[in-house]
Amino acid sequence: MNQTKLIIITALFFTIFSNYSFFDNVLGVYPFEGINIIYVISLSLLLFTFMIFLFTLLSSRYTTKPILIIMLIISSLTSYFMNAYHVIIDSDMIRNAIQTDLMESLDLFSLKMVVYLLVLGVIPSIYIYKVELKFDSLKIEFFRKIKTLLLSLILIIIILFSFSKFYTSFFREHKPLRYYTNPTYWIYSIGDYISKTLKSGKIELKAIGLDAKITNSTEEPKLVIMVVGEATRADHFSLNGYKRETNPLLKKENIINLPNVSSCGTSTAHSVPCMFSIFDRDDYSYKKGISTENVLDVLYHTNKISLLWRDNNSDSKGVALRVPFEDYKRSPNNTICDEECRDEGMLVGLDKYISKQKNKDILIVLHQMGNHGPAYNKRYTKIFQKFTPVCKTNQLEMCSQKSINNAYDNALLYTDYFLSKVINLLKRYDKTHKTSMIYMSDHGESLGEHGLYLHGLPYFMAPDAQTHIGAVIWFGKGNQKTIDSTKEYSHDNLFHTLLGLFNVETKVYKKELDMFKENGTIH
Ligand SMILES: [Zn+2]
Repeated sequence: MNQTKLIIITALFFTIFSNYSFFDNVLGVYPFEGINIIYVISLSLLLFTFMIFLFTLLSSRYTTKPILIIMLIISSLTSYFMNAYHVIIDSDMIRNAIQTDLMESLDLFSLKMVVYLLVLGVIPSIYIYKVELKFDSLKIEFFRKIKTLLLSLILIIIILFSFSKFYTSFFREHKPLRYYTNPTYWIYSIGDYISKTLKSGKIELKAIGLDAKITNSTEEPKLVIMVVGEATRADHFSLNGYKRETNPLLKKENIINLPNVSSCGTSTAHSVPCMFSIFDRDDYSYKKGISTENVLDVLYHTNKISLLWRDNNSDSKGVALRVPFEDYKRSPNNTICDEECRDEGMLVGLDKYISKQKNKDILIVLHQMGNHGPAYNKRYTKIFQKFTPVCKTNQLEMCSQKSINNAYDNALLYTDYFLSKVINLLKRYDKTHKTSMIYMSDHGESLGEHGLYLHGLPYFMAPDAQTHIGAVIWFGKGNQKTIDSTKEYSHDNLFHTLLGLFNVETKVYKKELDMFKENGTIH
């Protein structure tokens, strides 16, 4: 067989077997009836022809087989994730995957994933590996390649022009649909990811807030614990009116609940650096984030604040590169580990740390494992299993909506417990420090509404569940502040609120974004 034939067979295989998610979404927008039938057929043809064009472009005696095999293997996995979790593979998702460590990946592992890998990846790859390709002379091969490219290009143009009205609306108004094409969209996303990160050249870090200073140091030192939560959505907090009691311990504390806070992104890798950055949501990009100092750096520039980042999530996503960082995902650092290391382990030894800082102000950031999905049932110990039955598999689509919610809500109970432990730790410093705790989740989570699971959808198409986050603030005795808690806030406020809490004066501080200064409250 010649390589053109192999490419056509592979493109056909991709179109029919690897694009379930794409056609599922297309049929959601264009139900299979009337003229839509012709549109959907023309879309399949377009996808098929485009793949032939793309694969032919990359083909040669030495590249055709390896490229097709790599595409099949990766696409079998992207198919699985798109079908099982309704996620899309964009450049943010690729960054997430690269920054995710092995333990998190194991959480996603399932038998069904292996079946996808075998049926859509390995078996067709074996066929491609075994098939004997005949190559003619360079000249004949070259002209055959040109001919295939031209023919497929002409066919693409004919399809686009015969239904130009349909395609205008398809590409303009239903932009997200093409995010589900396989393998074309993940290939595009890898290119997008590379151009956004690697190609950006050597990153030079831009210092900000070098003028930062603290003037009124007559008060007791400040002790602030910032808890970066994981995947808690606002509407599952009983503090926000959720029908189940998911904040039984927090509600007993004198907390300020913030019911209207939105996240910067829909993934950890996007939100965490964004919330600590000087940029607001519209202005933030990965490149800007890593090439500009964040609020921890500005606090550090005052020379008066001790900073510590403890992490039980994946890592600080680049936020804590220049401040002391401690990994609490493993023992022996974390002393409270059973099937996994628990968030409360991050509190062990903090007293010792605080006592060592003498009279300095202190900011401790605790990055939680929180409600990291899909294995919510692993995120808490037995005593928090209040809501049953719980979904015990990472294949969420196999579980009932109720059992997913149960496992998720149990994990929220663990966070409620963790935050109340943080508050009780801070209470012990009432007399010596001005204490406060800020809790904000990094993003929300979809729990099966409209077939969506987990998080990570592009912001403009993400449901409220993924962007409307749990957030709570607590102040110790002698440090009470008031706030219009029903106002809409976002991760944009964190940078300036942290500076405000430490009374930092700097040109980069914006009073109007400080949640507590803006309301004219006294210190
Ligand atoms: Zn996250």
